[in-house]
Formats: sequence, C-alpha cells, structure tokens
Amino acid sequence: MKAAHPHLPAQTIASLWQAHHFSDLNKPHLRPDDIRPVLEKLGEYADIDKRVIGHSCTGRPIERLTLGHGPMVVLAWTQMHGDEPTATAAVLDWLEMLMVNNTSNELALPDHWHSLVTLHIIPMLNPDGAQRMTRVNEQGIDINRDARQLQSPEGKLLWQQVLELKPDIAFNLHDQNPYYTAGNTAYPATIAFLAPAFHPDKHVDAPRLRAKQLIACMADTLSHWLPCHIGRYDDTYSLRSFGDNIAGTGASTILIESGAYPNDPHRQVARKMNVIALQSALEALLGNLFQQKSLADYYRIPDNVEDGLVDIKFSQVRQQLGSTDYIADISVNIDKAGRASIRHIGDLSAQAGFTQISAYHTSVNPLKGITLDGPLVLDEKRYKALLREGFCYFVGDAKLLDNQSGLPCLCVAAPLSYTNLFVGADAYWVMTDNEGAKRAVLNGLTVPL
Ligand SMILES: [Zn+2]
Repeated sequence: MKAAHPHLPAQTIASLWQAHHFSDLNKPHLRPDDIRPVLEKLGEYADIDKRVIGHSCTGRPIERLTLGHGPMVVLAWTQMHGDEPTATAAVLDWLEMLMVNNTSNELALPDHWHSLVTLHIIPMLNPDGAQRMTRVNEQGIDINRDARQLQSPEGKLLWQQVLELKPDIAFNLHDQNPYYTAGNTAYPATIAFLAPAFHPDKHVDAPRLRAKQLIACMADTLSHWLPCHIGRYDDTYSLRSFGDNIAGTGASTILIESGAYPNDPHRQVARKMNVIALQSALEALLGNLFQQKSLADYYRIPDNVEDGLVDIKFSQVRQQLGSTDYIADISVNIDKAGRASIRHIGDLSAQAGFTQISAYHTSVNPLKGITLDGPLVLDEKRYKALLREGFCYFVGDAKLLDNQSGLPCLCVAAPLSYTNLFVGADAYWVMTDNEGAKRAVLNGLTVPL
C-alpha cells in the first residue's frame, strides 16, 4: 500500500481517467457496436482474459473480461437494462486505468494486487436491449426481475456466473431516471448506492455489513467531487431482483445507480464517478480501509428521493374547472423520444425543476383545438395568431398540416376529452394575463406571444 490517505489516490484515478478514458464512448447511448473496438483493445492486454461466456436471445455474444488471479473474487456487470449504458463505459475505462497503472504504478494498490484479487467484468449483459435501447431483453423480459424464474438467457447466464465464480463482492451497475435527488434537495442524485437486502426483514449479516462499509468508503471519496449529489437507494427487499438474490449467496452486493448531473446529457460525470467509486472500493478492500466504517457512515448518506426533480416546473398556474378557480403547480417531464407531458399537478413545493418558470398572475386558457378542414401551411406568424386566439392544438388528419413554423405542434385525431391541464397530457397550452395571451407552452417549450 503506498498511501492510506483516501483523498490523494482518488485524485490520481480522476486524472488518469481524464487522460485515458475511451472518448469514443461519450455518447447518449451505447450499443454492441460501440463497445466492440474497446473490448478488442482491452482483450489485447496480456493481463486481461477476454472470453465469450454466453449469448443473448438473438445470439449476440456476451463477454467477460477477467483481470487478476487472487482469492478475493469481484464480479461486476452492467447494462442488464439495455437502456442504461453509463457504467458500461465506466467499467471499460476502469480496466484501461488499471492497465495504464501496470506501467505508471500511480494508484494506491499493492504491487502484487493481481495475486490478491480476481476482477470479473461483464459489460453489457443485455446486448439486445442495448441495440433496441430498451430496458427489457428481446423476450420483453426485465432481466432484473428474472432472478428466480431464469427464463431469459441473459439472466440464466448471470446466475450461472454467480454460482461458478462465487463472488465475494458483486457490483450491480445501473442507471436511474434523472429525477432522483440526494435527500430533499434540488440536487440530482448523480450516484446512488445500495447494499440490497437478502430477506424482507433487511437483516444485516457480515457480507452485507461489508457492502455498506465499502459504500461508505466510496461515498466518502466521491464527496470530494459531488458533495451534494450522492444518494442512498431504498433497500426494500425485491424478491425477483438479482442484487437481492446474489446478496443471499453471501456476496457483499453493491448496487450503483448512475444519475443526472446539470448540463451533462451523456452522464459523463456519473461515468467518471463510477470509475472513482470502483477504484476506491478496490483500494478500501485491499487495504482493509472499509473496516473503519460503521453502519452509521452508510446511513449518513442522504436518501435517494424519487421524483424530487422534474424537467420543467411551472409554479402557481391559475386554471378554471367549471366555475371554480384554482391555483396549482404543474410539472412537465420530457421522455427519451422528446415528448413533453404533464407529470404532476398540485402543490409541488417539495419538487424542483431543472427549469423553473413562475406562472404567477397568469392563467391557462381552456384547452382548445382547431379543426383542420383542409391543407394548412403553418408558418410562425399564422401559428402565433392561432395561439393568441387560444387554439393550442390541431384536430384532424396530421397529413393536412405542413408545419413550417419551427415550433412544435400537436395534432390529434379527435378533440381532447378535457379542457384543463391533466396528468399525462401533452404539454401544450396558452397562458394569458390581464392584457391577453402572454405565452404558449409547446411541447414544454415556452414561447412568448
Ligand atoms: Zn436498471
């Protein structure tokens, strides 16, 4: 061990990451073809054993990279949910960092660490889902709810690996939606940790204690970069999930969820933090630093709060239903396809928006559609004129509408069944004040009128 101080080695891994990470993996999503060249490169290192351990439903190879030959066995897998790619880039970066360290020897690892630990990494366990950008596999099965039935080839493979390798430490690496916050704050949880329960009573046995201690070490290290962005995931026992079942085999199991960070659409902050977290866990494990941590250190990490954030929060929106006036906050989220829809209506004082808009002193017009009775060329001037008249969507055959306005528009086959804003509805409306139409919200985008 070169240094016991937890800060400096973490800075080393951060600067190594900066210099050596796979820059081609800075993408909104990763498919099998994206990681293939990286797998080839890593497979060329003499120290890394790369092998195909099985195949997905459609026959795509699932590979495992192994480094080291020691008795302490670490198993990590990523992207079992095909649309959660952040940790895939991170584990590949981590292996590259460890290879760079073979010559530079900068990390706080014992010189003979290869003989102390065996690292098994399975990047992209669900290549079919990754290809389609879906959570589920080709059968439509959520692999992470298949730990008992084992009906998916990918789930079966993971369980076989667990039985064969008997990991001491297991890293289950995922992405979470961008709306989790670290505690009741407006800060997105960029990283969330969990040592999953292996029984409904959430008993903490020795391996689970070690998982919590390792998490406390990782959170400590990450807090140098992300003091307000680390959450502790809910530990309700999940009967069908892999993490909980693997924890039941006696492995110290650690879930890491990558999340959002402001102005970081490709989650590169979370990617880098995963590398630092994994490396600091390895250092803590090999240096026995984790034993200095207590359960209290784990529980000190703030809760990973679901729905703490929304994409856009409009506060104090005045509306009318029948003859009743009411004021409510409105939140809007934008899905991966770019559709903005209303998520919540009411008192949203406990939520923050990545974008916040005050609607104070403005009212939402009753939602009103204009029927297309023939072809309509919609330029910006014509569109804004319609919006000022209170029309916020079109009714009829979308082919009749030639939208040249550069603004989003909504065209539906039949008039909407509601005239007030409603949960799940597309985010299109017009807001007025005493002087008339003030602005339109078009697929979440605020447009002055
Ligand atoms: Zn997931």
